[in-house]
Amino acid sequence: MVPIQMVDLKRQYAKIKSEVDVAITEVLESSAYINGGPVQQFSQDLQKYLDVKHVIPCANGTDALQIAMMALGLQPGDEVITASFTFIATAEVIALLNLKPVFVDVDPKTYCLDATKLEAAITPKTKAIVPVHLYGHVADMEAIMEVAAKHNIPVIEDNAQAIGADYTYKDGTKKKAGGIGHIGCTSFFPSKNLGCYGDGGAIFTNDDALAAQIRMVANHGQSARYYHDVVGVNSRLDTIQAAVLKIKLPLLDQYITARRAVADAYDKAFADVPQIVTPYRAPYSYHVFHQYTLQLEGADRNKLQTYLQERNVPAMIYYPVPAHRQKMFASFGSSEFDLPVTDTLTGKVISLPIHTEMDEDQLQHIIESVKSFLK
Ligand SMILES: *Cc1c(COP(=O)(O)O)cnc(C)c1O
Repeated sequence: MVPIQMVDLKRQYAKIKSEVDVAITEVLESSAYINGGPVQQFSQDLQKYLDVKHVIPCANGTDALQIAMMALGLQPGDEVITASFTFIATAEVIALLNLKPVFVDVDPKTYCLDATKLEAAITPKTKAIVPVHLYGHVADMEAIMEVAAKHNIPVIEDNAQAIGADYTYKDGTKKKAGGIGHIGCTSFFPSKNLGCYGDGGAIFTNDDALAAQIRMVANHGQSARYYHDVVGVNSRLDTIQAAVLKIKLPLLDQYITARRAVADAYDKAFADVPQIVTPYRAPYSYHVFHQYTLQLEGADRNKLQTYLQERNVPAMIYYPVPAHRQKMFASFGSSEFDLPVTDTLTGKVISLPIHTEMDEDQLQHIIESVKSFLK
């Protein structure tokens, strides 16, 4: 059996190696390492795929979030609502910009920001709402956008884990995650569902004025060459990464299908295991399974992790400590937030390997290993 990894990037690359190698060589030979043709071409391809008006590429997903908040003109002390059950970047950039992170609990089933608890957290100082589509499940965007519209607050989607996912509205219309809020942000970190071979990220919007502001912030606050109107950052997607992404984007739907097949097999295998709660799929979200994350009931996840490791099955805890309990936020008094669902979930979740290259024998070995620990 081929060794099991959380994400098998090596075997995924092997399948597209000839195309990728040619594309990278072309960039090397063109010497247009920054803002070369593939950057624009990939941005246009992604814009079509997501059905959004503007795609602004940048250096990574964390920058995407930071640039989005800077482009909205948020001022020190402004409050930004987000989930605490997320990768730290979401909350970190809020603090970095001297804004105040306000954490709202997550829905116990979807693990995403609980739209029913959103309104109670809004104050006159709330200047942005940042839902996170955790593990590839889309937050309840229709409900979130309704509350945001009522209070006239912009919404930034952290779509680093759910690129390609669809959200279905009550009337049946669909939109791609990341294209629903005022701004969408994503990451092309190698292990993400659409990953490059280094760092990369992008920002999406349907708003022309916001797009211009985002472009300016991402490029040293420059409005015309060597004229700088605002303090910005330097954040670019380099040409080699764009060339790789241009090849991988047309494969994204296939990649998602492969991930969902793994998730389906896990769901089926664990349906009758009393200690396991398998991931929920809300009717409005097409789950793209960036992670396959179980909740363990009445079993020790650390022991399971060790047990699996001994059988050469990696498993990870995403995330053992929620953002509001990180030392980083001690001076913000964030641990005072009452987030019982987040605290409970971060104590019980464990993620199994899921990727585009899983073999049947690997899958069976993982399933049998989990089951033999829990029996
Ligand atoms: C990966 C990730 C980010 C950050 O992306 P980078 O490209 O690593 O900076 C932000 N938010 C979430 C939810 C992520 O999973």
